[in-house]
Amino acid sequence: MIGTGILKGMAVTARNFVGSYFEKERLITVQYPEERSPLPENYRNFPFLIYDGDNSHAGLRCVACKICEKECPPQCIYIVKSEDKKPDYMGKPQFYPKVFDIDISVCMSCQICVEVCPFEAIKMDKEFELSQRERFDHLLLRKEQLSKCNGYYHNIQPVEAEAVDNNLADAAAAAEAKKRAAAEAAAKAAAAKAAAAATPETKPAAAASSSSQTSSGRSD
Ligand code: SF4
Ligand code: SF4
Repeated sequence: MIGTGILKGMAVTARNFVGSYFEKERLITVQYPEERSPLPENYRNFPFLIYDGDNSHAGLRCVACKICEKECPPQCIYIVKSEDKKPDYMGKPQFYPKVFDIDISVCMSCQICVEVCPFEAIKMDKEFELSQRERFDHLLLRKEQLSKCNGYYHNIQPVEAEAVDNNLADAAAAAEAKKRAAAEAAAKAAAAKAAAAATPETKPAAAASSSSQTSSGRSD
């Protein structure tokens, strides 16, 4: 019958409207900003930079490779690479961003910067209360505002952060194993070289003694 769908829809609306006075689950609005609905795990807004430990400079994972800057579709990332280096999370000396800005008035939350970063250094934030009276400078987020600790990342995206930590731990363990294998191979090569250097001294001596024996046999 024509109009059955509309009647069914209105019945659902009426049931929820009346029910919302008696059951909290039927009340889908909250008294924002005093009350807030929890954000889903995969909600994303604008990017932020991650640092490990307590020091936002020493622990910053970004190595200023500029891949995200190149790949960002609206070109809203601006990076200036440092001239000096600092140790990364594996102790390897790396450059760091002297300047790292993101213009969130332009950012379209596409997450491409996160996808292309080889160092797990940039992730999507959930912070959305960023409105400003001024449109330009006040929406340009600087490195200091963008840098947030790994604990913060675990708070907002626990499942993803756990997986990233495991990946980094595996990479660090693999790098350590490779370093140990290289050191062992170098030690073996050095020992073989030392043994080879010692051998020529014994050979001529042996050769000389055999030739003297031969020559003495002929004179007899
Ligand atoms: S989320 Fe997209 S638009 Fe925003 S900074 Fe990253 S790459 Fe650029
Ligand atoms: S955030 Fe990642 S991709 Fe971007 S410059 Fe830093 S290390 Fe490179």
